[in-house]
Amino acid sequence: MAGEGKRRTRRGKRKRHSRNNASPSLQKEEQPPISPPLRPSRPPKRSRVEPPAPNSMASSSFLDKIRGRLSGAHFRMINEKLYTCSGSEALDLFKKDPELFDVYHAGYQEQMSHWPEQPVNIIIKWLKNHSSSMVVADFGCGSATLAKNVKNKVFSIDLVANDPSVIACDMSHTPLDSSSVDVAVFCLSLMGTNFSSYLQEANRVLKPCGWLLIAEVRSRFDPNNGGADPDKFCEAVCKLGYTSVLKDLKNKMFLLFYFKKKEKAAPVKYIEWPELKACLYKRR
Ligand code: SAH
Repeated sequence: MAGEGKRRTRRGKRKRHSRNNASPSLQKEEQPPISPPLRPSRPPKRSRVEPPAPNSMASSSFLDKIRGRLSGAHFRMINEKLYTCSGSEALDLFKKDPELFDVYHAGYQEQMSHWPEQPVNIIIKWLKNHSSSMVVADFGCGSATLAKNVKNKVFSIDLVANDPSVIACDMSHTPLDSSSVDVAVFCLSLMGTNFSSYLQEANRVLKPCGWLLIAEVRSRFDPNNGGADPDKFCEAVCKLGYTSVLKDLKNKMFLLFYFKKKEKAAPVKYIEWPELKACLYKRR
């Protein structure tokens, strides 16, 4: 193995040379910024998505995996944006690029498929147990699942209308008449930094004695983890002129609040709203 012996000698020389000529403190600076490696010190880290062999049958599933990763990352980016900007900024974002809405909802559906129970289904059940003559406003309706599953007249509101029945607007300013609905629903939709203005708008359109139903991600209400205190949130809603009828805290993934609007309420001028922690999804 003559060749092997030679190589070892050359490498040994080079090492000794650099050690002798550089003081330890200068060693780093004297190296060229990008020095060609003599040999890779370690094999390159393997990506978790292995590229297929060329022409292999697996190449389409490889591409699917990559596409999945990219759209997952894109979803998380849009999601983070929606939790950290105002409703009007979110509206501008989707107006500029309505396709983002589809990316967001594809990712949202994927996340929800891992939840044992969907809050929208609990709200649908609740509506089915009450009079179907009640007019509903679904604030942040997404793909209008609620409207599609009940007999009630439903005003479905979202930033983008991916169905002709949906009213596209920022829900802090809806075209609905004052005191025109019996039930206002926010199902995982109190996303913007100005979420209290959505609740003020719901209060405007809700009839006296109307219902306000709010489902939100549990982690947003975990005071030990930077989330809001659910009692403080309820207090703030009550100051708007509501009675807290029920707090359903039994679900692992979300909380459900049921409020009833008072027949006559003296509006409180200043309400201190707790901050609702942004709900950021982890990479799967
Ligand atoms: N309620 C639906 C969708 C929840 S996803 C369901 O439970 O399946 C949250 C939705 O709220 C998204 O579709 C988002 O576009 C919408 N949303 C967030 N901020 C909004 C705003 N300011 N105005 C209107 N819709 C908003």
